[in-house]
Amino acid sequence: MNVRIDEELCIGCGSCQEICPAVFHLNEEIGKSVVIDPEACEFVGCCEAAAENCPVEAITIE
Ligand code: SF4
Repeated sequence: MNVRIDEELCIGCGSCQEICPAVFHLNEEIGKSVVIDPEACEFVGCCEAAAENCPVEAITIE
């Protein structure tokens, strides 16, 4: 499983980090979230929820 954030779309709302902090981190300097551990998606079970709640649909899970 791989998870990506489209940086062009991300508005830095922080929702993904709030829902799934093992995988996503909001970089406040750039105002975008980044994926810190894509492998963690396999076992933490919150990536889908983070993707569903992203207001701009910037999170892709493959
Ligand atoms: S939920 Fe979406 S818009 Fe918000 S910080 Fe995460 S990737 Fe960016």
